[in-house]
Amino acid sequence: MQVNSNISFQDTATAFAHKTDKDLGRARLLFRSFDYPILLKWGPGLAKIAVSLGFKFVIKDTIFKQFCGGENIQECIHAIQQLAKSGIGTILDYSVEGEESELVFVSTAAEIIKTIDMAHGNASIPFAVFKVTGIIDSHVLEKVSSNIELSESEQTLWDNGKARFFDICYHAQKNDVRLFIDAEESWIQLAIDQLAEQAMGEVNTTKALIYNTVQLYRHDRFAYLKDQIKTTSAFLGFKLVRGAYMEKERARAIEFGYQDPIQPNKESTDSDYNEALKFCIENSDKVSICVGTHNENSSMLGVQLMTEKGLDKTDTRVYFSQLLGMSDHISFNLSHSKYNVAKYVPYGPVNAVIPYLTRRAQENSSVAGQMGRELGLIDTEIKRRRNES
Ligand SMILES: Cc1cc2nc3c(=O)[nH]c(=O)nc-3n(C[C@H](O)[C@H](O)[C@H](O)COP(=O)(O)OP(=O)(O)OC[C@H]3O[C@@H](n4cnc5c(N)ncnc54)[C@H](O)[C@@H]3O)c2cc1C
Repeated sequence: MQVNSNISFQDTATAFAHKTDKDLGRARLLFRSFDYPILLKWGPGLAKIAVSLGFKFVIKDTIFKQFCGGENIQECIHAIQQLAKSGIGTILDYSVEGEESELVFVSTAAEIIKTIDMAHGNASIPFAVFKVTGIIDSHVLEKVSSNIELSESEQTLWDNGKARFFDICYHAQKNDVRLFIDAEESWIQLAIDQLAEQAMGEVNTTKALIYNTVQLYRHDRFAYLKDQIKTTSAFLGFKLVRGAYMEKERARAIEFGYQDPIQPNKESTDSDYNEALKFCIENSDKVSICVGTHNENSSMLGVQLMTEKGLDKTDTRVYFSQLLGMSDHISFNLSHSKYNVAKYVPYGPVNAVIPYLTRRAQENSSVAGQMGRELGLIDTEIKRRRNES
């Protein structure tokens, strides 16, 4: 796609300039392996067994290397520096999933604080990020979202969780670090929105530091976004995404017999995403955004809208963001043209990020219809390099 004369997402030379031939060969092999349903089915279990038997390096040198920065912040420094060489920022994403306990929530909150400290005054790390379910019990979030009265012990969990939430937001404020709050399942999102709205009201007094996330695969979210922008006096930050939990959302709506919160089809999601992008950029005097997508049309639309609005490419109110190991053709070409780009760099112990890696593998399988694009781009670049030499 070539809408803006200066940018082409087909420019694989720019997209993969940071990859050696060996890196490309390895990535090609990995993306091809996602096409084996048997590997997708048994891979996560086998990966856990491999780690427990001391063969962690097998995972660490392959899929982990493609999609994660390291097992801890220190190990991510190489990825941060590599991205920074191409003008791309890092968003350290502590991606540990699993056990829900107060002990784990406390240590996760401490880790998020460390990512904020790391971002403080560091131009290579323009944002920090966290998931509210990493620090607050999801059953409590569900009850609060449904306005169901909490028991005494649940009230304590909620109070402790809120304290952790605001500690993180105030720490970001104190350190002048922009902070994304990820969006999650619809049945807990109301509680997350309320926390995020309160934090934005308190912290975003002179500029947007706290960003809530809006999932445009939900049919009610563009209206929510417009309402927030029209009725809130604080500076607002929004990360715009399509949404990651579609199958789960649809299945639950059927199971419990309520209206499916997801748009009727992909076209409606795309249309609301692009309209939301337009609305935010129109209101950029008050609204800062992160265009969080691997969609080429939406990314190019972001570029066009910035031009039409007369925003400088480097205006920090607009960032484009993709995940590490995905859509480098968007990230590196946008950054090459001097737009603000930051990659989510997930990290955590290998065994704890297996659920995250499994989602990346599924998303890039031909079952999900996505594999073609990443693999096609890698193939194009390999061929281009062969012809050049
Ligand atoms: C930087 C970044 C941050 C992210 N943060 C979050 C987050 O906080 N919360 C979150 O939920 N997700 C998050 N995501 C994931 C995101 O929501 C999408 O799942 C993912 O990026 C794929 O969508 P896309 O816009 O990249 O591209 P596309 O490939 O164009 O869109 C795929 C998406 O379209 C939607 N879709 C597909 N089929 C249909 C259908 N039949 N009907 C309706 N909608 C459909 C789904 O949302 C699907 O994921 C993030 C992604 C990025 C890149």
